[in-house]
Amino acid sequence: MANISKILCATLAITFLPVEFVNAQTPAKKLFGNKPLPAKLQPAVHGFYTKGCIAGAVAIPIDGPNWQAMRLSRNRRWGHPHLISEVEKLSYKAKKDGWNGLLVGDISQPRGGPMLTGHRSHQIGLDADIWLTQMPNKRMTYNERENTSAISVLKKGTNVVDKSRWTRAHTMLLYHAATSPGIERVLVHPGIKKQLCETVKGNRQWLSKIRPTWGHHYHFHIRMGCPPGSPDCKKQGATPKSNGCDDGSLDWWYNVAFAPKKKSTTKPTTKPKPRRELGVRDLPQACQGVLSARSASLEVATHKPIAAAFVAPKIKLPRFSASAVLNGKPIEAKGLSVSSISNGTGFIPKGPVPVPTLRPVF
Ligand SMILES: [Zn+2]
Repeated sequence: MANISKILCATLAITFLPVEFVNAQTPAKKLFGNKPLPAKLQPAVHGFYTKGCIAGAVAIPIDGPNWQAMRLSRNRRWGHPHLISEVEKLSYKAKKDGWNGLLVGDISQPRGGPMLTGHRSHQIGLDADIWLTQMPNKRMTYNERENTSAISVLKKGTNVVDKSRWTRAHTMLLYHAATSPGIERVLVHPGIKKQLCETVKGNRQWLSKIRPTWGHHYHFHIRMGCPPGSPDCKKQGATPKSNGCDDGSLDWWYNVAFAPKKKSTTKPTTKPKPRRELGVRDLPQACQGVLSARSASLEVATHKPIAAAFVAPKIKLPRFSASAVLNGKPIEAKGLSVSSISNGTGFIPKGPVPVPTLRPVF
């Protein structure tokens, strides 16, 4: 009898546990990572790029005239409406300057928040990853978007750009991203910054927005500032006035960060502590409302592209599954190369598919 009442008590405790308590115990990435659709609320950003969420996010369509969204199983095509239209505008500007079209990587989850895999940022719908590989001429299938690997622009085994792969269209793509008024930062590998510093002539002021960071040689990352209507959005510090080319700031990367590590003779006594996982209570309070809000439908919450006449190919999306996200391929994993699925117009950089590297953390 005592056992039965114990079981009963435990069952009741679970049944009537306040939702808030369950949430407090569950990593925020599980709660946000399992939401297939956005919160049906006015668009608003809550918190910071690495600790926050977004209400009323919209999805970039899977296909636009000048873009294709990749790794659809991740369901990370969501962002603030201003960011989604920035990506769309960028696709047109870059196309005019010879970039065949964007391959759009991760933006945010439908309600933002910490992700099941990968990034620390991308939590508030203001960050987007764009591949440094041009769109092929054909529309890729669902499976091709899952399995195609991006191509690094670095010379194999070095921290400098492979000049045979770098084109004017790459430079112009980054120029258009950096000169877009809503975009505050463009994150790239230091090798790309070095390449721009060495080759851009004339007005170089836009280079101040091109920020060197780890990784980011398979894709680059655009970051918007806080949009209007989001008083809860936490601003990032302004980028320095200097263009970052002539002030020696790149030296640190090449002299310190990339310098060969000296072998330590003593064994470390303590392991570095793993980073604590964010809980919902670590995020702004409004994020609890974002989590529990009703969902907007995919049709209503998909951005309407400028070119209404463009007819997208039909791609049937499978039902969203968090396990597919956990098992998905990073963009740099070995797989099909874009050139292998293209119909050979010669705009795809030639060369072997690079060996996978660790996903950048920043
Ligand atoms: Zn990113």
